[in-house]
Amino acid sequence: MSESPRMKIAILGAGPAGLGAAWQLAKQDKAEVVVLEQQSAVGGNAGSFELAGVHVDFGSHRLHPSCELQIMADIQGLLGDDLLIRPRHGRIRLRGKWIHFPLKAMDLLTHLPWSFRFGVARDALMKAVPGGGGDADPTFASVLQAGLGATICKDFYFPYARKIWGAEPEELSPIQAQRRVAAGSLMKMVRKVLGLKTGTSSTGRHFYYPRYGYGQISTAISDAMQATGAELRLGARVTRIVTGDRQRVELERDGEAETIEADAVWSTIPLAVLARLVDPPAPEAVLDAAGSIESRAMILIYLVLDTDQFSEFDAHYFPDSEIGITRMSEQKNYSDRGQPAGTTVLCGELPCQVDDATWRMDDASLGDLMLDALARCELRVGCAVREVVTRRLAHAYPIYRRGYEWHFATLDAWAEAVGGVLTFGRQGLFAHDNTHHALAMAYAAVECLDGGAFDADRWADYRRQFESHVVED
Ligand SMILES: Cc1cc2nc3c(=O)[nH]c(=O)nc-3n(C[C@H](O)[C@H](O)[C@H](O)COP(=O)(O)OP(=O)(O)OC[C@H]3O[C@@H](n4cnc5c(N)ncnc54)[C@H](O)[C@@H]3O)c2cc1C
Repeated sequence: MSESPRMKIAILGAGPAGLGAAWQLAKQDKAEVVVLEQQSAVGGNAGSFELAGVHVDFGSHRLHPSCELQIMADIQGLLGDDLLIRPRHGRIRLRGKWIHFPLKAMDLLTHLPWSFRFGVARDALMKAVPGGGGDADPTFASVLQAGLGATICKDFYFPYARKIWGAEPEELSPIQAQRRVAAGSLMKMVRKVLGLKTGTSSTGRHFYYPRYGYGQISTAISDAMQATGAELRLGARVTRIVTGDRQRVELERDGEAETIEADAVWSTIPLAVLARLVDPPAPEAVLDAAGSIESRAMILIYLVLDTDQFSEFDAHYFPDSEIGITRMSEQKNYSDRGQPAGTTVLCGELPCQVDDATWRMDDASLGDLMLDALARCELRVGCAVREVVTRRLAHAYPIYRRGYEWHFATLDAWAEAVGGVLTFGRQGLFAHDNTHHALAMAYAAVECLDGGAFDADRWADYRRQFESHVVED
């Protein structure tokens, strides 16, 4: 990268990672920054929009208390009293029964069928008996089964995994289990449920939430970033990046082609997309790798209801394979506003693949699918549905199929060798991460830039730290 003390950096993507990096770069006066975002609003998957007077998110989003202290302090500084501390109040449907989620010991003891309770007890006893040896060829299924026992896997994690990632648990990499499941063993889970696990947020009883929707975090960072001199271009879809001594970023905006020159490109767009945009073109093996890593898509189905409140819960979770959606959130219950009166919005999360039959369904059919899913769980909508609105996320979750590690490593090694380009963020590192993790990556990248030079060794250390991120729901 250039040795110029006042280098120019083009940041691709205005999700939390891109915005966080731009803000810190501008605030610390480390670079002149321009952020390029293809959408008409900031926030990426962590954004919000207004629907019938309710601020709705792209599926259930919470700011977890495990957020790094500095980042939490910065968000608190930006949002002030608008950053609320809210009690978690959700439910999960297991074997036809509703259980509080996050799990509570009494609820588990009194509400679950005896067969489930016996199953978990039997699994715990079997784990106490030594033997079995190591797993020579671990998968998501084998790691979770060894840690949590067959009952919890069969009733909860495995059906949920099939829906979320569209793959059999045996087809998924063990890394998916490490990244996704905070309570990796039955005893840890029991301690968590009994409230005996201390010093960590993973007991998950509270969360932080901005009064005007989760996207308020991103809009606040965006405002602060622009106030400190960074430039934001919305509706700017990056189409090509010509690399060299200086980087030439080509984009489309309002049907017009534009070009921006910068010393460096910091990309938070999907790594597989980046590989196809760079010129000179990536080698064939890298393009093959880009075609081999997959993201799960998601349709968000919003039902605008003619009632003040549908339920007292923030989110309902549906691991059952018979129910299409994985989660339904009632947005009003995340904030304390209770506004507007007489209207509430439900948001259903329906995982799918881009361009599959589900992706192509029209809004009315998706609305019916969601109403049917709710009715099957005794959550019948008894008031008028004023409107069905949908949104589609092409890159909702990375799919860690077995062997994805090799494809990712190929892409990652290529990206590292492309001069003047840095990739990070959830999409940029194909990481199943929370917002605070994406922000931590952004802060780390900015820290690695010193006097116009990028400290690759320090970044490599940070990259190792990112591997310990565990996503929370
Ligand atoms: C259903 C769901 C629920 C979630 N719940 C939580 C939660 O409760 N708590 C939590 O902390 N996290 C949650 N997350 C994760 C959170 O949304 C992400 O961690 C966060 O959005 C990652 O930020 P990012 O900037 O790395 O990526 P993104 O938000 O994906 O941003 C990438 C940006 O790049 C832009 N882009 C892509 N291609 C181009 C291009 N060619 N040109 C210009 N721009 C481009 C995109 O439009 C996007 O704005 C959830 C995610 C999902 C899908």
